[in-house]
Amino acid sequence: EVRVRFAPSPTGFLHLGGLRTALYNYIFAKKYGGSFILRLEDTDQSRLVPGAAESIEDMLEWAGIPPDESPRRGGAAGPYLQSQRLDLYSQTALQLVESGHAYYCFCSSQRLELLKKEALRSGQTPRYDNRCRHLRAEQVQQKLAQGTPHVIRFRLETGVEPFQDLIFGWNRHEVAEVEGDPVVMKADGFPTYHLANIVDDHHMKVSHVLRGSEWLISTSKHLLMYSALGWQAPTFGHLPLLMNKDGSKLSKRQGDIFIQSFQRDGVLPEALLDITTNCGSGFNTTRMGRKIDELISEFNPSKITTHSALLDLEKLPEFNKIHLEQRIEDEEQCRLLINDLQGQIRQTYTAEIQDQEVLHEDYIRRVLHLRKGHISALKELLSPVYSYLWVRPSVSSQQVAALTAEAHQIASSVLKLIEERGEELAVDRLNKDLKTLAKQAKATKYREVMKLLRLALSGLQQGPSVAEMMVSLGPAEISHRFQKLLQ
Ligand code: GLU
Repeated sequence: EVRVRFAPSPTGFLHLGGLRTALYNYIFAKKYGGSFILRLEDTDQSRLVPGAAESIEDMLEWAGIPPDESPRRGGAAGPYLQSQRLDLYSQTALQLVESGHAYYCFCSSQRLELLKKEALRSGQTPRYDNRCRHLRAEQVQQKLAQGTPHVIRFRLETGVEPFQDLIFGWNRHEVAEVEGDPVVMKADGFPTYHLANIVDDHHMKVSHVLRGSEWLISTSKHLLMYSALGWQAPTFGHLPLLMNKDGSKLSKRQGDIFIQSFQRDGVLPEALLDITTNCGSGFNTTRMGRKIDELISEFNPSKITTHSALLDLEKLPEFNKIHLEQRIEDEEQCRLLINDLQGQIRQTYTAEIQDQEVLHEDYIRRVLHLRKGHISALKELLSPVYSYLWVRPSVSSQQVAALTAEAHQIASSVLKLIEERGEELAVDRLNKDLKTLAKQAKATKYREVMKLLRLALSGLQQGPSVAEMMVSLGPAEISHRFQKLLQ
């Protein structure tokens, strides 16, 4: 049974790199009919950020990749918050001590600090010198009895077996040669990441660990711990890093890569999923506009390469445009967009709306269908350029005076035409009509005339075509706006 997990530490809010790790896990689970677990690794109590835990789960739900088991949803392998599983870790640490794979360490922080300083002075990487490995049993008992503060360290052995990473192939890090014995239980009774992580992966029956490639060098250490405990290790797959397109690190400090800020800016979750997979590997195609179901069906783990994924956030509006268009074309989704827009229009133009028609579902739907493929976020429609859709433009007497005789004539004939026909307007047909009418009026500068008409309809010098504006506004409103000029 496939069981995968996303195991962030709630020491910060979810950012794009994290979302991407979660996404590959989600897709992997769904592709193979397995479960996707969210586990929060909150063992470093000093670095917890209030609200981060809840927010991470909120963001996964918002993104449309909800976990099957999680702190909020629960599940048979819970609890899913490490701070609620402390007994399990201390039992396991004791088990390691009893079997001789771990030992108590009573070294004071001053001593460790000193070791570090000395190493740095002689140009070496600081590492613990494993001194407490050699304490005699009576010494240990005595110190424990005296209540001496202590940690538990895992005894790193040499002779690490290679393991086959799903993405990076064969790997092996002789950790004992470069590191001192790592702490697995801290003095405050909390485990460190390394212990808690493997204990949970084991007890939660995780079959595949898919995580960022920064953990690749820790995996040998984890495997030593699995074997010390007599547990079968899961299969590992380390995902290449997500970087900026220039190859620089996608910094967590860059506020704008937090999922919440994308959400706030009106980015659609499916656009975010699309762009983060599009720049990486692991899919049979790289076309834009894929939704989660397509991502799952096109996923092919054997295609994940070891190259970093280079993210070009400047392309995000383009992704958003495509996905917004897809939402508009889906009736149910479109209704939600309309709802959303209604609220935003009311908020933005509270007192200025003269005509309640603009809040009607049908009116907004028509606007959305006309503008899809042009706008990359819903909120663009609330910007000043589109205000003509919701409120009447104020047209100055100068503008009226500027209206040429030709423009007058075309405006009144097109009005007449529309009234006579009494049918629904269409952009193509209106375009033809306008051209014919311009010819009949012997208008010499067609574009100039259209500019004047656009101004009359919207107060804009530039913008969507006159025909499109007319179709969105509808006959009654066109006539209202034109008539003001024609008086
Ligand atoms: N808590 C670790 C992190 O924040 C999890 C790493 C792993 O998936 O094993 O990245």
